[in-house]
Amino acid sequence: MEIPSLNKQQEFTLASVTDLTTSSSSPSSSPVVATFSCVNEVKELRFQESESSDGFSFDLSSTQLFKLGPLLFICVSDLSGSAKEKSSFSRGVVIKFKDDKDSKEFSDSFEECKKDSVKQGSSFLNGTVVSANKSKFDDKIEAASAKMYFHYYGQLLHQQNMLQDYVRTGTYHAAVMENRSDFSGRVVVDVGAGSGILSLFAALAGAKHVYAVEASEMAEYARKLIAGNPLLAERITVIKGKIEDIELPEKADVLISEPMGTLLVNERMLETYVIARDRFLSPNGKMFPTVGRIHMAPFADEFLFVEMANKALFWQQQNYYGVDLTPLYVSAHQGYFSQPVVDAFDPRLLVAPSMFHMIDFTKMTEEQFYEIDIPLKFTASVCTRVHGLACWFDVLFDGSTVQRWFTTAPGAPTTHWYQIRCVLSQPIHVMAGQEITGRLHLVAHSAQSYTINLTLSAKMWGPGANQGGILQTSSCKLDLKEPYYRMSQPQVYPTQEPPAQSQDIHIHSDDLEEVELLQQTANAQL
Ligand code: SAH
Repeated sequence: MEIPSLNKQQEFTLASVTDLTTSSSSPSSSPVVATFSCVNEVKELRFQESESSDGFSFDLSSTQLFKLGPLLFICVSDLSGSAKEKSSFSRGVVIKFKDDKDSKEFSDSFEECKKDSVKQGSSFLNGTVVSANKSKFDDKIEAASAKMYFHYYGQLLHQQNMLQDYVRTGTYHAAVMENRSDFSGRVVVDVGAGSGILSLFAALAGAKHVYAVEASEMAEYARKLIAGNPLLAERITVIKGKIEDIELPEKADVLISEPMGTLLVNERMLETYVIARDRFLSPNGKMFPTVGRIHMAPFADEFLFVEMANKALFWQQQNYYGVDLTPLYVSAHQGYFSQPVVDAFDPRLLVAPSMFHMIDFTKMTEEQFYEIDIPLKFTASVCTRVHGLACWFDVLFDGSTVQRWFTTAPGAPTTHWYQIRCVLSQPIHVMAGQEITGRLHLVAHSAQSYTINLTLSAKMWGPGANQGGILQTSSCKLDLKEPYYRMSQPQVYPTQEPPAQSQDIHIHSDDLEEVELLQQTANAQL
């Protein structure tokens, strides 16, 4: 697409221009005008004093623009990358606008013209532009979902919630500080910087420079927070934009990010994390965190099951102000059982040793996150009724000095992720030692989350099993985007026992009696 003939929007009178190459500033008597133009198929940004013919131009295909403040930009042209000018150096100017309107229009015009010049086949030295018109992010995520998502993260209260998760923030702090050698003198990219806290940690650990990339309005607060820590601020640049869209002036030695959602993958930000890896990380660069694991184990929780079933009982009324509500009972029941339950539960509810599915952030491709298929196989520790699958995650910071795990396991100190449980509307019965098989199939959707398909099966136990024993199978379909937050229920936590992640998971007979009792009560209510 050609740039239309010059119009007002592509000519900007600047408040000031400082040429970083010569350190000269524009004289105030003769204002400088910035003009986007097209000369011989080359898209240019030209700076010229309004009353003189002196000026200079930037080739837009090799020019990058960084916003330093509401009215302040730095414009850098990478001449060293162009073949015909091998001996040339890069050129940079700092430009200031008179008002917000000009500033915004200028950056919009810049983006527009740059896209055009990319379409014609120009390439950037640092990273490639994936899509000329629409970003990779916009291609796969609904605009309405993205709007709500970034609105949420743009609010300080939600960032505070994460900062106040001391298990989370403390583990990140420890992982960075005890691996100073990985940060000291290195270029770091903070993928989804939020308040900027991880960028500040990286700078504290001696990073040479940190690029804090944040798409939401939180970027402005991050700038403020970072500016208020002047000893660190000079080594941090906040870039407001999506990882998928922005450009960086150099490659990174380290990526740091907190992209984990419920069940690890909710929010689909891990895709952004691996896109950042492919676009910005040097070949031998490090990723903090490095790998993640989804842990899973079947659980028995009669109380939870009855609680969920009871919610739909409202629709069993045949005389609700004279109206029969029962036509909607089945739908309401299905609705409740399509919500994954989020809360912190007692690990003694697990009825088999857990298994895990590993996700290596250094290797996983973006597309591999679209569909995650996990075959399940457990051996029941007790004779019980299985109500579904409990899941949690952990991540590893594979530092050169210390390898540190951060876990959200039941029984470990609770985090703001809690744990998640997929509850079957038809529980299955198992005996101690019996095998439970199944499948957890996660399919990404455009509302930044996943559809969960869970199937659990248990073959009949005993002599008949060999003669084609009966297979009990129960399935459910849940939307990870619509969880049932159940934190108001008081939970009992073991104080002495270590987190039950592996062997030795028993339901004590006392607990079984309690469950039995609950079941009776529940049946009575039903
Ligand atoms: N790093 C901060 C915030 C973590 S929350 C901390 O640890 O406290 C994740 C942040 O990533 C949010 O602020 C969100 O707005 C941002 N984010 C999510 N997807 C992004 C994307 N594609 N590009 C840039 N930022 C993104």
